[in-house]
Amino acid sequence: MNEHWESALGDLRGRLSTENFDTWLRPIRFDRLDAGTVHIRIPNRFYAEWIRTHYLDLLLEALKRHAGIGELDVEWKVDESLAEAERQAAQQAATAEPEPPGAAPSASASAGTDGAGERGASQPPASHTNLNPKYRFESFVVGPSNQLAHAAAMAAASSPGARYNPLFIYGGVGLGKTHLVNAVGHRVLSDRPDARILYVSAERFTNEFIWALQNHRINEFRDRYRNNCDVLLMDDIQFLAKREQTQEEFFHTFNALYHSDKQIVVSSDAYPQQMGQMEERLISRFQWGMVADIQAPELDTRVAIVKKKAEQEGIAVSGEVANFLAQTVRSNVRELEGTLLRLAVKAELLQRPIDLEFAREALRSHTPRPTHATTVEQIQKAVCEYFNIRMTELKSRRRHRSVAYPRMVAMYLCRQRLRTSYTELGERFGGKDHTTVINAVRKIEGRIDSDDREVIDTVEAIEFKLNKN
Ligand code: ADP
Ligand code: MG
Repeated sequence: MNEHWESALGDLRGRLSTENFDTWLRPIRFDRLDAGTVHIRIPNRFYAEWIRTHYLDLLLEALKRHAGIGELDVEWKVDESLAEAERQAAQQAATAEPEPPGAAPSASASAGTDGAGERGASQPPASHTNLNPKYRFESFVVGPSNQLAHAAAMAAASSPGARYNPLFIYGGVGLGKTHLVNAVGHRVLSDRPDARILYVSAERFTNEFIWALQNHRINEFRDRYRNNCDVLLMDDIQFLAKREQTQEEFFHTFNALYHSDKQIVVSSDAYPQQMGQMEERLISRFQWGMVADIQAPELDTRVAIVKKKAEQEGIAVSGEVANFLAQTVRSNVRELEGTLLRLAVKAELLQRPIDLEFAREALRSHTPRPTHATTVEQIQKAVCEYFNIRMTELKSRRRHRSVAYPRMVAMYLCRQRLRTSYTELGERFGGKDHTTVINAVRKIEGRIDSDDREVIDTVEAIEFKLNKN
């Protein structure tokens, strides 16, 4: 089993940033597997919580795939010896600066009896909801950036299938889409405990669909999504781009539900019309109901979010520290939350209070490495991923905002980071005149200078992405 564990971790290493992998997954240990329960040892309690909300699905899926087993429960055990290893690593990192310690010394096998076990049902039985228990309206901080989406989600939840159907929520990474989508499910359930809520990512929908096709279970699949569902919560619909057959399936699912007045909530990282490679008839259906966006939160909202998360997780932070975090981490809420949790883990390991000095120190060692080798190609790729457009579109002559804006951002970033000449950039962007590039760069610079939030956040998010790998 151990080698399956290693392979599963290997998969995740490829999917997460080094920083997240090192912080959250490297320190944990596989203990044993018995009776469908995998026992995992962790350095302190924060790990269980964070891994469960962010990585557990991925981890279990990989583990099941490698080991060829079905359902898995998880049992967590806090193991002091792991904390000791991390403490040493953290201290080293704080005093020295360089290389994070490669493999932490593997913990002595004193796993046996002590340590606070925490039971975490990883994947509730399929008959029950698979909503994330933490993503509720009560834990969602409302501010100008998400007010509309929040209000629409509340309205959809209070009268499902009525006015706001479908509800289409779009916004950048880590801004609360999944949170809101789950919150709708919880709210409907609390009003109508027997409601059948299906929360599914488009990726999962796709995988299930393909599996059902291959295993002659398509009728069951359809029955589940079309006839046994009162609220369908479909997360990250942009995943269906290019997947024509799954789109077609989803189209019929949509129709079946819609015509029996079932509520549909869809999230996406782009506005319906900006989703590349999506069938027109689906796009138009997404606009039948309500389309609401989520923007990056402004400072006050970020402060409130830090405070709320800290309270929820039992982390003591002063207003001063909350402010500092909110000022420093601007890209998105997930990053903000991650930073807070990392701080908490570190503080607990080093047994220090989270004061401003500590926060400063800790964040300093986490600031992204300064621009290391990036290429025009990498920037173009990151921009395409961020906007969910194709490389050919980026380099095309289309002037529609959905591609023209990403193109300008990409040109700006190339110029900023690489100082590539305007002429060369013109060539690399599909043979454009150098004046086109100059204008693009100036335009983005101008908007950044005039404090245009959308542009600033976009650029930051992409830079962040670039710095991570
Ligand atoms: P997305 O699905 O848009 O990528 P998520 O919904 O996963 O983003 O949000 C990322 C993290 O940030 C989650 O842990 C979520 O709880 C938190 N979050 C985002 N927006 C808010 C908010 N307004 N209030 C509280 N938490 C938030
Ligand atoms: Mg999400």
